[in-house]
Amino acid sequence: MDTTLRGVGVSHGVAIGEVRHMGTAVLEPPAKQIPAQDAEREQGNARKAVEAVAADLMARGNLAGGEAQAVLEAQAMMAQDPELIADVDRRIAVGSTAERAVYDAFAAYRELLAGAGEYLAGRVADLDDVRNRIVARLLGVPMPGIPDSDEPYVLVARDLAPADTALLDPTLVLGFVTEEGGPTSHSAILARALGVPAVVALPGAGELAEGTVIAVDGSTGDIFVNPSEEKKAELEAAAAERKAALAASTGPGATADGHKVPLLANVGGPADVPAAVEAGAEGVGLFRTEFLFLDDSKNAPSEEKQVEAYRQVLEAFPEGRVVVRVLDAGADKPLDFLTPADEPNPALGVRGLRTLLDHPEVLRTQLTALAKAAEGLPVYLEVMAPMVADRADAKAFADACRAAGLRAKFGAMVEIPSAALRARSILQEVEFLSLGTNDLAQYTFAADRQVGAVSRLQDPWQPALLDLVALSAEAAKAEGKSCGVCGEAASDPLLACVLTGLGVTSLSMGAASLPYVRATLAKYTLAQCERAASAARAADSADEARAAAQAVLSGE
Ligand code: PEP
Ligand code: MG
Repeated sequence: MDTTLRGVGVSHGVAIGEVRHMGTAVLEPPAKQIPAQDAEREQGNARKAVEAVAADLMARGNLAGGEAQAVLEAQAMMAQDPELIADVDRRIAVGSTAERAVYDAFAAYRELLAGAGEYLAGRVADLDDVRNRIVARLLGVPMPGIPDSDEPYVLVARDLAPADTALLDPTLVLGFVTEEGGPTSHSAILARALGVPAVVALPGAGELAEGTVIAVDGSTGDIFVNPSEEKKAELEAAAAERKAALAASTGPGATADGHKVPLLANVGGPADVPAAVEAGAEGVGLFRTEFLFLDDSKNAPSEEKQVEAYRQVLEAFPEGRVVVRVLDAGADKPLDFLTPADEPNPALGVRGLRTLLDHPEVLRTQLTALAKAAEGLPVYLEVMAPMVADRADAKAFADACRAAGLRAKFGAMVEIPSAALRARSILQEVEFLSLGTNDLAQYTFAADRQVGAVSRLQDPWQPALLDLVALSAEAAKAEGKSCGVCGEAASDPLLACVLTGLGVTSLSMGAASLPYVRATLAKYTLAQCERAASAARAADSADEARAAAQAVLSGE
């Protein structure tokens, strides 16, 4: 029988495959007593689990090769440490379950390591991973972290953090379903970057049984559990039809009457560039440079490493525009060496430009690397700062760019309501604005973008958000400057028409959304987009705004 669940569709397309859960990081088994006669069997179970985990780590090491192999082999040796195994045996002999004995024995070993100097302390995370794997095997629950699978699957998780997703193999992940997260969460952004369908904010996603076949419709937010053959065929045919229609729409972004709206791509690094070029991006509207900083939790990447990464992106768009955002660390993207650990409200704390102004050397290296990367290239480089609150922030950023000798346009992201309200003042210091509607929604509605329960308030169709977009676009027009959108709002084809009607001058999105937006924009004139925008702003809720814009555009 088909069961249909409904979440929030955040990345178009249909994925059909088996559920694989992202394993939880820490599994603490309950401390319960077992009868003495069960001890021998439990000791046997513990030993089997240890051996299986060690063998699995060795096998994955063989596959990975290189440095990863050394790490995985070291982990396999940790699992088989004779002293640890003896401690597990002792704990079971006095009444522990196998899983609890493993948990406690590793905890004791962990403490020893953590107090034993820097090198060994650095191995604590590896040890925790080994412990979690053995405990997971004993409990018969999924292994922690990204599923180990050779077959393609649909990844189901509570939510996905950038650090988890960096390890994903895009050839194996057919789609995402998450319990938490809203349309602007990292799961949503990553799914669009990978071009896989995704549904977020699905209550009960965690209860979908491992191995169950589901069909994920990333456009409607529907999940079909155990879909019938007819349902699968119907969904696949609809998706193929949509894809064919999209492939027919090419060229630069424009409305039906030729009003140009450059369509740009959001990228996280050189790896995202081929998809952007293939989707016909006219440049990059948001290069999220923080992904370059995720590899090392203790240091910023060297100037040389940055020059290389920036140059690869800049070279891909000769004569095109590339907007690079300087490091946006903090809040949902913390970096150990920059982000204060003890903030009560990280999203309202030191993040984005605030972090960089506290660490001018990091900003200076980044701007110098950008200047070197752009040398001799015919690209239009633009550089912008995240989380600009006021004119003083904009000035501090522009001053830093000038001091680094950067020949580029300097801009400010509008992500904080104060920046939209005083956009003209900010534009006295910088040459363009780019609306980060994800954070702008978060701060306008006081709704954490990582919390699924408040996803209603992160809906970029909220009329209050549209008002702030309009204010920013009007300010830019009055100053003769440009105002793009690079938040996820730009990737919704209908909303892209409304944003155009509000006066936005370019739209930037994950590459996979570009054909959808291009095809929809080409169907309507600028005047129609403007009427749809007025109707949406006159509404009282996101749903009403969407329906009002749809009614105008479909001529109802
Ligand atoms: C935004 O906030 O809309 C944005 C584009 O930045 P990020 O999603 O990386 O915070
Ligand atoms: Mg942001």
